[in-house]
Amino acid sequence: MNTIIIGSGPAGYTAAIYAARADLKPVIYTGLEPGGQLTTTTEVDNFPGYPKGVDGPTMMNELKEQAERFGTKVEIDYISKVDFSNEKGGIHKVYTQNGDEIKSKTIIISTGASAKYLGIPSEQRLIGGGVSACAVCDGFFYKDQEVAIVGGGDTAIEEATYLAKICTKVTMLVRKDHFRASKAMQNRLQNYQNIHVLFNHEVKEVIGENVVQGIKIINNLNDQISEVKITGLFIAIGHSPNTKIFKGIVDMDDGGYILTDKASTKTNIPGVFAAGDVQDKDYRQAVTAAGTGCMAALDAERYLQEI
Ligand code: NDP
Repeated sequence: MNTIIIGSGPAGYTAAIYAARADLKPVIYTGLEPGGQLTTTTEVDNFPGYPKGVDGPTMMNELKEQAERFGTKVEIDYISKVDFSNEKGGIHKVYTQNGDEIKSKTIIISTGASAKYLGIPSEQRLIGGGVSACAVCDGFFYKDQEVAIVGGGDTAIEEATYLAKICTKVTMLVRKDHFRASKAMQNRLQNYQNIHVLFNHEVKEVIGENVVQGIKIINNLNDQISEVKITGLFIAIGHSPNTKIFKGIVDMDDGGYILTDKASTKTNIPGVFAAGDVQDKDYRQAVTAAGTGCMAALDAERYLQEI
């Protein structure tokens, strides 16, 4: 095989469109969440070419159809192991969850990133019952209600201000005595009277059997516990890249994001390229992921011409 694409978000499908049009006959392995993070989004208003907006699943389906139109083979399967060659022109091997071995001259990694959760049992149990990691996706369900958001980064502030426009009150829980967010983002908070920031506070427990009814929080300076009545809890504590199967094989930074050669998608392994959120912790947009997906396909095509 010429090109295997691992992961089916905007980066993966855009790589597939370009690789298929270059006649590389790519095969894309969708992973456990075909379509990626955007399939959990309702409205996408910022992808160029959709003046009226588009819902996430529809957009991903259209990207898939576009990739298939040029001959991409879409495999609804999960790659659980890889064995990459370190030689230029070498053959890379990937293994599906059933243990099937597939060989390819080039690999495009576009496995994306997933939202981090706190990991406490009551939070895990109530995901979908009032606990969410995407304010923009789920905020609307809490219109005119009181909610809380965990995190002190740019995302937490961005999501808090989004929620403040919909909800009556937003309690922000920041575990340190300061934000990690940029000053510019912190300044935005001044425009919202209904955002209440609690520094040095963490969630101890989410209250509610099937739906969120409140949270037990702890002041980590004096261990004092209190309760906040809310119907929605948003977690905005960052994302982790889906790179477990590449650990020790492909070079990564401390956060597990794949390192690529400056203005390209080349990894440290010849013939292995990375695109989208798996190698981008700064922009993380569908359109930037699509852009790097295009780059990865062009890089793979050039590599195949060279070997
Ligand atoms: P960050 O990693 O920047 O921030 C994560 C926040 O969550 C930190 O405040 C961190 O606290 C906190 N946190 C982490 N784990 C826990 C936990 N277990 N319990 C409680 N709090 C926790 O992630 P973001 O998603 O905010 O941002 C990612 C990148 O995207 C950044 O580079 C950011 O600048 C960028 N971005 C930019 C935007 C913009 O400019 N408009 C918008 C959104 C994102 P602590 O500080 O204690 O580690």
